This record gives sequence, C-alpha cells and structure tokens, in this order.
Amino acid sequence: MKKNQTCQIRITGYTAEGLGVGRLEDGMAVFVPGAARGDFLEILLVKVLRRHAFGKILQVLQPSPWRTSPDCPVFPQCGGCDFRHLTYEEELSLKAQRVMDAMNRIGGFTLPIPKIVPSPKITGYRNKAQFPVGNGETGVIFGFYRSRSHQIVPIRQCLLQSKEACSLAEAVCRWADQAGAAPYDERAHTGLLRHIVIRQGQGGLHLTLVVREDRLPKSQQLIDMCQEAVPALCGIVINTNPQPGNKILGLGCRTLWGTDRLADQLAGNTFHLSPLSFYQVNHEQTQQLYAYVTELAAPQPDTLALDLYCGVGTITLALASRCHQVIGVEIIPQAVADAKENARRNQVHHVNFLCADAGQAAQRLAEDGFSPQVIVVDPPRKGLDQAAVDAICRMNPQRVVYVSCDCASLARDAKLLAQQGDYRLQQIRAFDMFPRTAHVETVCLLTRMQ
Ligand code: SAH
Repeated sequence: MKKNQTCQIRITGYTAEGLGVGRLEDGMAVFVPGAARGDFLEILLVKVLRRHAFGKILQVLQPSPWRTSPDCPVFPQCGGCDFRHLTYEEELSLKAQRVMDAMNRIGGFTLPIPKIVPSPKITGYRNKAQFPVGNGETGVIFGFYRSRSHQIVPIRQCLLQSKEACSLAEAVCRWADQAGAAPYDERAHTGLLRHIVIRQGQGGLHLTLVVREDRLPKSQQLIDMCQEAVPALCGIVINTNPQPGNKILGLGCRTLWGTDRLADQLAGNTFHLSPLSFYQVNHEQTQQLYAYVTELAAPQPDTLALDLYCGVGTITLALASRCHQVIGVEIIPQAVADAKENARRNQVHHVNFLCADAGQAAQRLAEDGFSPQVIVVDPPRKGLDQAAVDAICRMNPQRVVYVSCDCASLARDAKLLAQQGDYRLQQIRAFDMFPRTAHVETVCLLTRMQ
C-alpha cells in the first residue's frame, strides 16, 4: 500500500496516544485519529512507513457502538481532548486496557485488566487552565495550540474548564486590546503576553499572567476588568519568562494585586499554592486517589514514611496524621516553601521537607541509615532515575506505593524494583484523572518479599 491510496479497515483497538488501530489485508497496522474500536472505515493513507501507516477517516461506513457525536465545536482541532468521539465507558475501558498492556509488555507482569476509577466529574473537572495568547481576526485571542503545532485555536468556552476561567481569560484579552499589550511572537521573540494561567480552588480564582518582560501598560485597568469579569478573583501575579522555548512559566513572580498564593482544601488539609508549585488538576478525583494511596501505604502510629516528588506536601500531610514521621522531597524551591508553610498552617509537626533531586536525596537518606517502612513516589512522566531506584532498594521499605502519570515508565520502574529489590506487584488501580484526554493515572503497591 502507498501514500494517498484509500482502503477499508476495521478498528480493533487503540494506541497509547488514543489513535484507533486496524490492520490492512497484508497485516500492516494503521493508526487512525478519531476512530473508535468497532468502526468500519474508509480511510486515506496519509503516511506509510515500513511497519505501520497512518490513515485519515474519509467515511464511517459502519459506526462503532461506542462512537458518540463530539459535543465541542473545536474538537479535535484544539488538541486538548482526544476522546470526545467515544462514550465514557469506552474511554475508561481503553485506559484500563492500556495500563494492563504496558505492565505486561514493558514490565513483564501478567495481570488481569485493572479496575479503573471513573472521574466524579467529566466536564469542568480541571482547576487549572493554561491558555497561550495570540493575535486573531478580532484582536487578542486565547485558546489552545492546534495538535502538534503552535498555531492557536481560539476558544470561548472549554468543556474541561470552568466558565469563570474562560471569562477571566476573555477579560485579559479585552484589556490587552484596550491597553495595547501585544501578544508574544515566538519567532521574533517580541511582544509581551505569553500565557494566561488560571487556578481555581476554595479561595477563588487566581490569575498568573506570563509576560516576556515586566512592563505592563495600564495595570490598574487589568485589575479592574478582571475583578469585574470574575468577582471570585483572589489575586493576580505577573510572571516573567524572558526565555525563548516551550516552558510556560519563568522564575520571576510579582504580585500585582490580591494574594500571591491560592488557598484550597484537599483531603482534609488546607494548601497554599504558589504559581510555580505543582498541584493536581482534578480535585475530586485526587481525593479518591489519595485515599487509595493512604490505604496502600497502610501507615501505623510508629511508621516512618518517605514521600518522594512531594509537590506542596499533599500526600505527605495526608499520611502524616497516621504516621510517626514523614519526610517529603521536592525539587522546586517554591513548592518546598509552600509545603513547609502548609504543614505549619495545618499544625502537622512530624514532617520534614527537603528541597533536592529525589534520587540524590534518597541516596543521602539511605547512606544516613534512614529506614522507612513505606516509600511513596509520584514522579513526573519520565519516572524514577537509577539513583532513586538504587536508594529505594537500599532503604528496603516493606511497601513502595507508586503513583504514576505514565504507565510505560511505571512498568519499567516496577520491573526494576521487582528484579533489583525483590519486590512483588501486589495491587494496581487506574484513576481517570483526565477525562477526554489520553492520559491515565495509575497507583500500584509493591511489597517486599520477606
Ligand atoms: N505528589 C505531589 C506532586 C506530584 S507531581 C502531588 O500529588 O501533588 C511531581 C512533582 O515532582 C512535582 O512537584 C515536580 O516539581 C517534582 N519533581 C520533578 N522532578 C523532580 C526531581 N528530580 N526530584 C524531586 N522532585 C521532582
């Protein structure tokens, strides 16, 4: 088969990125965006490689029973959602299947399809929005980057975000038009406004405006217009990011108005969050996930626990009330400052926080003879590095609870821990933290074989 040929194909499953998968008569796998398992499709081959090809749907000849009509006018152009064409049941099922496949193929673990916990909310579940700003036909616009590009698809509402977040972004764009604040131009590295970052919690809405340089025209007007659009606004921070590149936030933060840190309650504690600190985006689902993490950690009054990659200390504090002592490790200084402050405000005294690379800190703790019964890890997508794996094995806890946003690196690391540290995979559960996107969160318990 060659590029630009058309063919008919039955979709039988999904890739890790959520593309539909089918096979041509000669057995070659074809990946098709926007396809559902069970669809019978006429497709155009848009790219043919040696072992697989990519197709584009020309016509749905027989729709899958799990296909639905997308309910968003910018799907799939905006690149934010992957699955608005599927029923939620099908989305959950494919995510659970994907976790099982990764654990099997990469980790070598044979297990049944794990349970997946549905998200309590499927729309408006995000408490954080990050909108790039650009020039549109009507003036300054916000939106999302088109899939695999930096072209902005303008939006008015987003089904994953709250209405208030979109109203606030709209107010910022109106101000930018009136004040003559130009959007940032990536190629020329000119202009001012880069991103509108909004967080929402019990404390209200918090705006971080990311600019190339800190010279804001008519800033009182910005404050007034934002407050008028969203009375629940609690603060505006100006974040300066002078660097070219994809990183959204720079290091410099200045409070323009109101509070510098949003307050939110999670799993029984109150957290204050700097704009630079990580915080889980799906509040209700995070509480269910943390409850499961605590259940798997099974803390006792004399337990010593280590929480690697602890962010603002959310899991650390959730464990602390039932442990003798918990140490949290996190690399972002602002998050560690937040974590310490959060412990103090919540009157949790038997916790310590270290600002360090998790692997290096764990190595040092192991050398000092620290010997926790429980280690919780919640690393970014790339997973643990070898130093972290080595140190965990050296500290030799009874339980390792692994929280993962990428089941491929989880599978790799669980295999290393099983081989190097004599751990056994005891429990695993997936959590749908990001409905309508291809991301899936997984929590598993590894226990030491005696
Ligand atoms: N457990 C927390 C945070 C998880 S996100 C929660 O549930 O909110 C992962 C965290 O790891 C982020 O806060 C990130 O800043 C931090 N991180 C990334 N690389 C790290 C490293 N090498 N060492 C320590 N922390 C790191």
